[in-house]
Amino acid sequence: MLILLTNDDGIHSAGLQALADRLQSLGRVVVVAPDRERSAIGHALTLHAPLRAEEILKDRWAVSGTPTDAVNLGIHGILKNMPDLVISGINKGGNMGDDLTYSGTVAAAMEATLMGVPAIAVSLASRRFNYADFSDASRAAETLAVTVSEHGLPADTFINVNVPPRTPLGIRLTRQGKRIYDDAVVENVDPRGRTYYWIGAGCLDFQDLDGTDFHAVQHGYVSVTPLHLDLTNYAAMDRLRCRYSAHRARKPSISRSSFQVREREGDRGRLFSAEGARVRWRSAIDSPIQPPRATTPAAAMAS
Ligand code: MN
Repeated sequence: MLILLTNDDGIHSAGLQALADRLQSLGRVVVVAPDRERSAIGHALTLHAPLRAEEILKDRWAVSGTPTDAVNLGIHGILKNMPDLVISGINKGGNMGDDLTYSGTVAAAMEATLMGVPAIAVSLASRRFNYADFSDASRAAETLAVTVSEHGLPADTFINVNVPPRTPLGIRLTRQGKRIYDDAVVENVDPRGRTYYWIGAGCLDFQDLDGTDFHAVQHGYVSVTPLHLDLTNYAAMDRLRCRYSAHRARKPSISRSSFQVREREGDRGRLFSAEGARVRWRSAIDSPIQPPRATTPAAAMAS
């Protein structure tokens, strides 16, 4: 089995090392990871700068980009064959609830899923910032790697794994929980007299909802959440279809040429500017749902 490992804490992270050591018994392990910490970088892809990749040890590549770059480059550039599995982690800190939208760890698994490779994101969910011991988390990752390699995953789906900071009581299949953010922004003055701001410095909490990732980890279980890349809120479709079908029946009341007239008349409040084309917002919402894109994500984003 060929396993590609990455993370967002950087190639020198102890969590990545522990994971690599643990998975050696399953096959060939190749690490392709950012050359420095890129936590909370999300699914950023570097399209407007060159990337460098240096093999600092055999099968251990440091990439001058994001976790998504590392997976993209690993699969399409460095590895000669498609990996059987991509694992991202072990992250220093949990990736649960709404935090997933920021996570570079989770985004790396997303990127692998886009490339058609089964993927797992693994995080050690400790609040105490004590990340010396990754043994339980790497054991859990190994167990799940074996399960995924034997049974596969549903289409367009990867698993997001969070391990409690003590010996787990077991594994629970969970849904994404809900974070409570403290929106505090720290404002201070630097040594040169300029004001600076620091976001994300407030206290974090979560809603203790049964069946969620937060709840499982809080109660000592490994949380396994299946995630997919389709962000559509299907539960909202019927309600919104009723609401917007009335507009669909109407002829659009404004065209590009009449827009210019309205703009001169100062009727800007009902309009917004989208890149290159200005449209009425109701028309924008009413536009047909786009089919899934067939191109690679890099090509689609570049176009
Ligand atoms: Mn991280």
